[in-house]
Amino acid sequence: MSKLHKMIIIPIFALFFIQLNIQPAIADDAKINADDLNIRSGPGTEFESMGQANTGESYSIVSQEGDWVEIQLENDTGWVALEFVTIDMESDDTVETSNQNTVTISNDHTQIRNGPSTDNDIIHFAEAGIQYEVTGETDDWYEVSGNGVEGYIYKNLIKQPESTAPGFKDKTIVIDPGHGGRDVGAIGASGAFEKDFAFLTAQELKQELEILGANVQLARPEDEFVSLGSRISFSNTMNTDAFISIHYNSVPELPDVTGIETYYYQEQNEKLASYIQSEVIKATDANDRGITNDNYLVIMQNVQPAVLIELGFISNEEKEDLLGTIGYQKKIVSGIINGLGKYFAYE
Ligand SMILES: [Zn+2]
Repeated sequence: MSKLHKMIIIPIFALFFIQLNIQPAIADDAKINADDLNIRSGPGTEFESMGQANTGESYSIVSQEGDWVEIQLENDTGWVALEFVTIDMESDDTVETSNQNTVTISNDHTQIRNGPSTDNDIIHFAEAGIQYEVTGETDDWYEVSGNGVEGYIYKNLIKQPESTAPGFKDKTIVIDPGHGGRDVGAIGASGAFEKDFAFLTAQELKQELEILGANVQLARPEDEFVSLGSRISFSNTMNTDAFISIHYNSVPELPDVTGIETYYYQEQNEKLASYIQSEVIKATDANDRGITNDNYLVIMQNVQPAVLIELGFISNEEKEDLLGTIGYQKKIVSGIINGLGKYFAYE
C-alpha cells in the first residue's frame, strides 16, 4: 500500500474504532484483604462503623476519596480503607488509544496508579474524555502523564487498532552512549562524569524501546573506550533506522548555562533532529537550545539517519543533581521515544 493511502485510511479507521468502543462505565470491584475490616459511614476512621468485611469478599466500587473507597452494600454504601483492598479492574475497554502516543479515557473512574501493579495505590480516577500522553511502558502497564497526573494504566484496558500500532516494531535503533572508559567526557559541577550520565540514559532508552518492539544496539555496551570510528562502522554495517548519540554538556566557567540541543549533519536528518528536540523539550521543560547543523564525526560519517543530542549541562550544579535521578531520566527518554515515534510515523 502506498504511503498516501495509509495516511488517508488511518484516521478514518481510528475514528470508526473509537465510535465502536464507547461503552457504559462498569464499576470495578474492591476485593477485601483483611478480616474484620470496618466498613464506615464516611471516608475516615472518625466515622462510625456500619459493620465488617472479611478476606475474599468483593464489593462494587462507587467512588474513592483519598485513601478510602466507597463500596456498594446491599441497601447502602459504606467506606473501607484502600490499603486493605485490591481493586479488580474490569477487562472491558475503558480506554482506547487515539494515536500511538496518547490515550483517551472513554469511561469514568478509570484507575491510574502510582506504580505498574495492582499492588500500587490508585492515585487518580480519570474521567471520560481526558487525554494522557504515554510516556513509557512497564510490563503490562502504560506510564501516562497529563492534566497534572503522572501514573500507570493497565495495558489490557487499552486496545490498539492495528493500523495505528506504534511504529517501533522491527526498527533497528543504535544508541551511542558518548565517551567511556578512559575518555570520561565532560566533568560535572560535583565531579561526576559525562560518560556515566550518557550510559544511564542509553540503558533506560534501550529498555523502553525494546518494550516497544525495537531492535536496540548499544554502540558502547559498557564502560569502555570505543573509538568514534568503530561506533560509526557499527551503525553503518547495520540496517540502522536511527542512530542516536547521547551526550551531556559542560561549561564550567558559565555554571548558569543550561538547556538541551540536538545536532544533525545530513539535510535529510533535520526532521529526525527536530522531532526529538521538540519532544524532549516538551517532556523535560528544559531550556530549548534548538537544533543545529554541525559536523560531529559520529553523525557526519554516519550513512544512516543519525543525530547527536546534548541532553543538559552537568556544569550546572542543580541540573547535574537532576540528571542523576531516574525520574528525570525517564522524562528525557520518553521525549526521545515520542520524537522517534513521530519520525517513524511521518518519515
Ligand atoms: Zn560528549
